[in-house]
Formats: sequence, C-alpha cells, structure tokens
Amino acid sequence: MNRILIVEDDKVLAKLLSKKLESTLTFKTDIAYSLHEARLFVKKYDYFLALLDLNLPDAPYGEVVDIMLAKNIPSIVLSAELDSKVRAKILQKDIIDYVKKGDMDELRYIIAAVERLYKNTKHKVLIVDDSLVFRNTLKKMVQNLFFNVVAVANGQEALQMLKSDSQIKLILTDYNMPDMNGLELTKKVRKIYSKNEISIIAISSDHNGEISALFLKHGATDYITKPFSKEEFSCRLNNAIEALENIWTITNSANRDFLTGLYNRRYFFKDMTEYFYNAKIKHENFCIAMIDIDNFKKINDTFGHDMGDKVIIRLAEILVHNTNEGDLVSRFGGEEFCIVLKNIEPEIALKRLERIRTKVQKALISKDNIAFTISIGVSFIQDDNLDEAINIADMMLYKAKHNGKNMIIDDMDLSIVT
Ligand code: GH3
Ligand code: MG
Ligand code: MG
Repeated sequence: MNRILIVEDDKVLAKLLSKKLESTLTFKTDIAYSLHEARLFVKKYDYFLALLDLNLPDAPYGEVVDIMLAKNIPSIVLSAELDSKVRAKILQKDIIDYVKKGDMDELRYIIAAVERLYKNTKHKVLIVDDSLVFRNTLKKMVQNLFFNVVAVANGQEALQMLKSDSQIKLILTDYNMPDMNGLELTKKVRKIYSKNEISIIAISSDHNGEISALFLKHGATDYITKPFSKEEFSCRLNNAIEALENIWTITNSANRDFLTGLYNRRYFFKDMTEYFYNAKIKHENFCIAMIDIDNFKKINDTFGHDMGDKVIIRLAEILVHNTNEGDLVSRFGGEEFCIVLKNIEPEIALKRLERIRTKVQKALISKDNIAFTISIGVSFIQDDNLDEAINIADMMLYKAKHNGKNMIIDDMDLSIVT
C-alpha cells in the first residue's frame, strides 16, 4: 500500500510530484494524465492515497474525485481555480485536503501533507463523546486523517481505555457529558499523563471563551469551538500530534548516544533507578555488566580514529542483537558500555554474556579484517543501592583486565571463563 496515484495532466507538475514523493518519502508513484488512465491504474493497484487534478482533458469538472472516493481511495485535490464557492463544494466531499496550484509552496505543502498522513497511521486517537451521532462523525473525520481511532461514550470508559491501550497519543473530548465532563476528564488524565505524553483537544459549543480558558489552564493542548470547519479540525489535530512528535525527537536525542544510537549514561540512571527499586520488590533477578574494549587505544593508534568508531558501532550492534528487548543496553562513554540483563537467572545471564564475548572475538571489522576483544565485569547484587552495584561491576571489570583481558568476571565467582 505504499503507492500513490498522481492524476494530473500538467506533465511537469506530475513528474515533479512523483520525483519528490519517491525520493523524500520513498513512496512508489504512478502518474495518470487522464481519467481514463487513472481508471486503468486503480484496477491494477491498491493506493495509499491519490492526488487529483480537478481539471482533466476527459473530466473537466472534477469528476475524478467522486470516482476515486467511490473506490475508497483517500484523496487530496489539486486545483488551479479556487474561489470560495469551489472550495466549499470540494470540501463537502470526503477528501482529505485540497491544494491550490500555482502557489509557490504547493510542492512542499503536498509532500508535508502526505508525510503527515503517513505518520498518522502510527498514532491512535481516543474520542470521548456521549452523543453517538457526533461520536461517529468525529470518528470518520479522524479516520480521514489516517489516524487509528477508538471511541467511548464517557470519561470513565476513557480512563479505562487509556490504561489498557498505550498506543493512544491524542484525546478528543467533548465538554458536556453527563457523569464526568470533559474538563474533569482532562484534569484526571493530566494527573497520570503529562503534556509530553498525550495531547488533549477539547470540543465545545461555548463561545464566550470561559470554558476554553479553563481547559487550557488544566492541561488541554488545544480547543475547538463548535461548529468548526473540516479544515480547522484537520489542522488542529495535525498540529497537536506534530508537537508531540517534536518533543519525542528531542527527548530521544537527549537520551541517546550519537555514535551508536544506544541509550546514554544519563538515560541509564533514569531507567535503572526505577527498575532497581521495582525488581527488589518483585524479587526479580537481573545482572549489571560493565563492558570495555581491550587495547582500544592501540586500534585507534594503528588504524585511525574512524576505524575505532567502526569497532564501537559493531560492538553496539552485537550487544543489541544478543540481548532481549526489555534489557538495557547503554554506552557510558568512550569504549565503555553498561548493559542490564533483566529478569534472568545468574547462570543464564553468564551464558548470554559469554556468547557476546565470543561473538565479539569472532567479529571482523571492514575489509582489513580487524579483530577485537572485550572484558566484562558482572554484578548480581540486588539488595544494595544502584551505585554500589555499578561499582562492583566496575571492580570486576578491573579484575578481568588485570587477569589478562578478553574474559568475564562476576561477583559470585560463577564464571570460570577464560
Ligand atoms: P584497556 O584494554 O585497558 O581497556 O586499554 P584501552 O586502550 O582500551 O583503554 P584506554 O582507556 O587506555 O584508551 C581508550 C581510548 O579510547 C582513548 C580514547 O582516545 C579512545 N576513545 C574514546 N572515545 C572514543 C570514540 O568515540 N571513538 C574512538 N575512535 N576512540 C575513542
Ligand atoms: Mg489540468
Ligand atoms: Mg579499553
């Protein structure tokens, strides 16, 4: 479904669009220069989206729009003439958006709009409205923007749904509802989820600004007054989700190491402080392993700093591929890594670390076949504080280096590995 149909008789524009969509967003595109060609394409392929020119040689009055919509192909309309009458008529149809041709930024706008829709497929929106009719209308409008949607009839159900579905990133709530109104729901949600985690957009027919101010004060991201246009609705939803995505990007880059993409030391302590505490309560076994590349300075000195970087990146890959999804793999700095194998018995943890050690030993980097080894210090300590556990892993690592490198030493003397 990663295919887009461009129906446009302006060859230059069609080709430009096709090139941009394929290069920046990696969609596959087909170009139809007429309604006839468009019909042939839709018989052959399924489309994620269609971009439709209203004025085609064999369909001069926008006939293509109804034909594509009848085939359930989501469509964005391109049009040269767009007075307010035409615009209103087009917007009545179930199209996603329209773009006026001839504007300087049209290409950029279209690419951004398509990218936005594609990203929306990865997010879920929760609709909270006691009116079935309005709930269904909203549902259709949100689905039209390619979001996944769940809809509930009251605040209580909304709170339950949020608990059970971590995919929900945006809440669209009505204000007037019988048991818990939208404002109370917003307050309750904000006690659990921050603005950086979930967006809330409130909808109400209150026009004097009092309710909207209350909503915003209590943590709503935005507010829509009824009645609203489809365009305003789309823009506000897309803006809210875009703001969230930007926050995630920034947070992610603050938590990760630039060279390897692994978590950094800062994130390690944030994640581990909570995990350490919970694991203690649940009596869950885990181990902390400090890993350091042996004689790394020599690799840098002999083959250059870039090669040193490649070695670090390869080690990061080996660590990720040989740990479980919930495990914590981080780069502490330089050629030092710290990993936490979670919910695991000591003997099995050591086997896994030993597999990592041998995988590293066998790895050859670049066409120069450069080999390297690692030393690992392990702590199984569960009942003291985190810093203490890391200190012990560090001490075990020091021992491993001292005893000849390329080995694992743990604080329970389980590993007799050389
Ligand atoms: P040992 O076996 O005892 O661990 O010795 P070593 O040479 O591996 O350790 P040492 O601490 O003496 O040297 C580490 C070197 O790693 C020094 C530093 O310049 C280099 N280094 C630190 N960060 C990076 C990096 O991001 N890329 C590269 N290429 N080198 C780095
Ligand atoms: Mg035309
Ligand atoms: Mg080293």
